[in-house]
Amino acid sequence: MATVDIQDATKSFGSTRVIRGVSIDIRDGEFVVLVGPSGCGKSTLLRMIAGLEGIDAGEIRIGGRRVNGLLPKERDIAMVFQNYALYPHLTVADNLAFSLKLRHAPQQEIEQRVARAAKILGLEPLLARLPKQLSGGQRQRVAMGRAIVRDPQVFLFDEPLSNLDAKLRVAMRAEIRELHQRLKATTIYVTHDQIEAMTMADKIVAMHDGVVEQVGTPLELFDRPRNVFVAAFIGSPS
Ligand code: ADP
Ligand code: MG
Repeated sequence: MATVDIQDATKSFGSTRVIRGVSIDIRDGEFVVLVGPSGCGKSTLLRMIAGLEGIDAGEIRIGGRRVNGLLPKERDIAMVFQNYALYPHLTVADNLAFSLKLRHAPQQEIEQRVARAAKILGLEPLLARLPKQLSGGQRQRVAMGRAIVRDPQVFLFDEPLSNLDAKLRVAMRAEIRELHQRLKATTIYVTHDQIEAMTMADKIVAMHDGVVEQVGTPLELFDRPRNVFVAAFIGSPS
């Protein structure tokens, strides 16, 4: 079970409160898109779930377990970033294996997990290449592969497609949804792109200025926006 429950979470940087009492319930296996304008606190909230930022008040539970204060590696999550964060001097295979080696996984298990991720993402012909020898889409696939090898309960994506051109972005949206169909892991996907949110989400969490404005299916937010912010933001693609 990998539910993610956030209860009244708050976070300040200096005297600025950037997360102001956020509560979200995410069910096991759900694909949730956290959407809102730049600067509203999406990345900060995702980093709090990952354990990369502390939480000032409130509670985060993953699979029912309170994780406040636990290190990222003690949480059953894997995160995919916007800038891919691949190691430039390592081959695709070594990039995929890196986090498993860090955890001293047995060599045979590392090989099995890397082979499985490569198969799922179609990376088998690319395993010996360096990141600079890959296209943008291929790099993004390696970044996803690095999350898959860990076989986490929860995937966190932070604007993973924003560096890709428009056509590739559309293709990768479908690929990420297919991946989710296949792995069925709970997924929290951050974007500022309303179209991405509307086309990918089981459930949308609309954020504005450090608070959750509305939670619902894409259709619910479109048909029955709770306030002017949601109506304007969901209704007017930028
Ligand atoms: P988003 O991902 O929605 O664009 P962020 O979570 O990155 O928003 O940022 C929310 C707010 O917190 C912004 O005003 C940003 O400038 C501020 N912020 C984010 N990280 C830090 C930090 N490490 N130190 C100070 N301010 C930060
Ligand atoms: Mg961000």
